[in-house]
Amino acid sequence: MHKFTPETQLIADEIFEYALARMKMDPPELDAPLTFEELTVRAGATITEDGLGGSEALKLFGEVLAPTCISVDHPRFLSFIPNAPTEYATLFDLVVGASGLYGGSWLEASGAVFAENQALRWIADLAGMPETAGGVFVQGGTLGNLSALVAARDHLRRQLEGFARWAVVCSEESHSSIASAAKVMDVDVVKCEVDDYGRLTGASLDAAIEDYESKTNGRVFAVVATSGTTNLGIVDDLRSVGAVAKRRGIWFHVDGAYGGAGLAAPSVRHLFDGIEQADSFVVDPHKWLFAPFDACALIYREPGIAKRAHTQHASYLDTLQNEEAEWNPSDYAIHLSRRARGLPFWFSLAAHGTLKYTEAIEETLRIAKMGARLIDAHPNCELLLEPTLSIVAFRRIGWVAADYAAWSERLLKEQIAFVTPSSHQGEPILRFAIVNPRTTETDLAEILETL
Ligand SMILES: *Cc1c(COP(=O)(O)O)cnc(C)c1O
Repeated sequence: MHKFTPETQLIADEIFEYALARMKMDPPELDAPLTFEELTVRAGATITEDGLGGSEALKLFGEVLAPTCISVDHPRFLSFIPNAPTEYATLFDLVVGASGLYGGSWLEASGAVFAENQALRWIADLAGMPETAGGVFVQGGTLGNLSALVAARDHLRRQLEGFARWAVVCSEESHSSIASAAKVMDVDVVKCEVDDYGRLTGASLDAAIEDYESKTNGRVFAVVATSGTTNLGIVDDLRSVGAVAKRRGIWFHVDGAYGGAGLAAPSVRHLFDGIEQADSFVVDPHKWLFAPFDACALIYREPGIAKRAHTQHASYLDTLQNEEAEWNPSDYAIHLSRRARGLPFWFSLAAHGTLKYTEAIEETLRIAKMGARLIDAHPNCELLLEPTLSIVAFRRIGWVAADYAAWSERLLKEQIAFVTPSSHQGEPILRFAIVNPRTTETDLAEILETL
């Protein structure tokens, strides 16, 4: 198993051939899931004492398993937040896997960490963070948000004593991962009202803190503003939220897991004004920055605070904390061993340059706008609101939830597109989440024709 033999070479050829063929499909098959029973019949028991052999296992994957996995990079995968890695980023993922990299420490992977940090620096500069800012690529926005909030509470808990409870404030529209982080941390979540545009503002934050702290023996330690809500793409009023956070001495975290990529797009950059005040923020390159799963850029204004909260200490780790250790990525989040998961993103960014990223993001914004115009012109559809970023939310007039569900199922069954229903304030809606520059106006038009 651990020797590269002539037989390994044969399997290597088959694997490369498979991977390249998949990459060259334009578009790839959309595909659809099977039930457990169906998969049991088709795939059977795959783990055996003597093994299937490489060719057979690859064939099983390619012919039975892969076709049951919906292609997230399909231009008509418009559900949730899709994934649209650049070809270079996908290719370099193979290199990362083959390179025996341990991405947790400077001692073990200085060059990889150096490169990842330059990619983080690009993002930090887009946000206007100080030179001293820094962070780490973690698995996803969920872990990024949790790690930032843990650092935040640790920081405040060192300064303030005597509070029975701690709380984090966010808007009704914030991502489910904030509530999940609060549950893990056993802190309260205070949900703030949003303004007429669906945004969290400084005024409502102020009122929510006042209300919580007057009614409980608790203390708000952080506010999470969302810069691009997952459902509608709304960007909170970062400037006023940041100002209130600063005045009250609480941590200001910005969740830009989906929308943070908009920082690189001049046409929407102004929506993010105020992000430069953030104590921490996250952006998922696996969402709108064209990296493969999974990578979340987590950046702190003062990384020392995060380091104090997160560094693991043990006799067998002491050697990592020496003076030559410029930067240990494992010190900045809830993890230790880590894949150098920022490298595929770094490679593509280094190879193509940042301008290409700006162009690709602007292209998705343009297609989202075109989608909104198509909906305006549609006899049966109505825009929920003008898209802020690249999510187009709309309703099919006269439909109830069951109609939406049946339509969505049919669309996938007929391999036309993957568009799942969502809801807003209790009302079922549809949304096109567009992060793939290969999604065209024709794609959207053909989907809309089925409505
Ligand atoms: C997707 C998303 C998350 C969670 O990110 P994962 O990478 O899926 O863990 C958090 N916040 C927002 C706003 C998101 O869109």
